[in-house]
Amino acid sequence: MTKRIAIVGAGTAGLHLGLYLQSKGVDATIFTDKKIEDYPSVRLLNTVAHHAVTVEREKSLGVDHWPNDGYYGHYYYVGIPGNPLEFYGDLNTGPSRAVDYRIYLPTLMQDFTDRGGHIEYRDVTLDNISELSDEYDLVVIGTGKGGLGQLFARDEKNSPFTSPQRQLCVGLFKGIAQQDTKAVTFCISPGAGEMIEIPTLTFSGDASALVFENHPGSDLEELTHARYDADPRAFLDLVLDKLRTHYPITARRIDEDEFDLANNSLDLLQGAVTPSVRDGHVTLANGKTALLIGDAHATVDPVLGQGGNMASYAGHVVGQAIVAAQEFDQDFFTRIDADRENRVLGATRWTNFMLTSLTELPESFIQFLGAVSLNRGLADKFTDNFNFPEVQWDLFSNPDAAAPWIAEHSSTAPDSGRHAALTGASA
Ligand SMILES: Cc1cc2nc3c(=O)[nH]c(=O)nc-3n(C[C@H](O)[C@H](O)[C@H](O)COP(=O)(O)OP(=O)(O)OC[C@H]3O[C@@H](n4cnc5c(N)ncnc54)[C@H](O)[C@@H]3O)c2cc1C
Repeated sequence: MTKRIAIVGAGTAGLHLGLYLQSKGVDATIFTDKKIEDYPSVRLLNTVAHHAVTVEREKSLGVDHWPNDGYYGHYYYVGIPGNPLEFYGDLNTGPSRAVDYRIYLPTLMQDFTDRGGHIEYRDVTLDNISELSDEYDLVVIGTGKGGLGQLFARDEKNSPFTSPQRQLCVGLFKGIAQQDTKAVTFCISPGAGEMIEIPTLTFSGDASALVFENHPGSDLEELTHARYDADPRAFLDLVLDKLRTHYPITARRIDEDEFDLANNSLDLLQGAVTPSVRDGHVTLANGKTALLIGDAHATVDPVLGQGGNMASYAGHVVGQAIVAAQEFDQDFFTRIDADRENRVLGATRWTNFMLTSLTELPESFIQFLGAVSLNRGLADKFTDNFNFPEVQWDLFSNPDAAAPWIAEHSSTAPDSGRHAALTGASA
């Protein structure tokens, strides 16, 4: 059968799919609204950490351009009043990596075109998608969480929220010293928010992404509405003040004279995400079927760093299915939905569960974190499973799963747990 594939969107979903198909000799054209040369001057798009499972896919696609820029684990800080928890876990599958998407995406677009791929630049509408489906054998829609994707029906069963659960303030900063081990620092301020500090490669070199996940109505929410451009010094002072109050594990490593946005005022992103799942394939006005992929299919809040990894995973599952397909019939679409469900819906469910648990901090969750904080084997397992969200979801979806999990993964090493974290665990 002929296989001419139209991919709408050059995000991680569209690019990983396009590069995969290209590597297998399948004719794929990418349609997108942003040119390679546009990226350096756009506002920060997100602050995406790719876990080792995604880095492995990048290796197999020949786009592993940043082999020495990974980080090795997670430090955790849970600011329980009077009894804060601090601990560290390794990413045992391999280092994760965060490269500014204003560098990452155009680099992969360039790879695709350098290898003979065709990228067509246009703002695609729903009408255009029907036209593309007449012209191509299959249309895959990877246009991200805004715009086109929103025109398709939500899968209500898998979309428990109708509004954002966090108010975000996300920036790339300089002036923050690394922890002893190059790692993410994941902080919880009970009742107020979470903050994830991510070592990130940007235009100016190494920087720290600070992802403030503010509970609506909390003391931290003003970060989402304060304007850097109106008064940079006042904005930076506000961020420093919130860090000192809520996230001292990061505040104590800041050189306040140096602290500022890493490149320029475009390094700041403020807003909110409504977690939503949509049907994996949709019927177009002309009766043809198109596939949804990446955020257009399933958008999660960034608190656990899963969306880009899900997009890459789906790109590969869809790519393999296209290569193997004899026909793009109903069976093909149903099989793809089934093949990606475990990872994509596992990540979605785990993220949605954690949004609620981190807001309410039920006693059982505090006890779980307490146990993990005291045992390095548990901290390593919990951390590494950011690679495998469906496994993490197995643990949290069943109230009886925690005790056997703790028994199975506890390490007996004498220096495990809190001691190892506070003395600086090695990579
Ligand atoms: C603050 C923040 C932090 C995050 N941190 C992480 C993290 O640590 N780890 C993680 O895995 N994920 C993270 N994510 C999520 C991640 O950014 C997304 O899940 C991922 O970028 C989705 O990729 P995508 O290809 O589906 O969509 P996008 O990256 O949004 O790409 C969409 C593409 O479609 C194009 N497009 C859009 N509309 C049209 C149109 N009408 N016509 C033509 N082209 C169009 C766009 O230009 C773009 O090329 C984070 C998100 C945010 C907001």
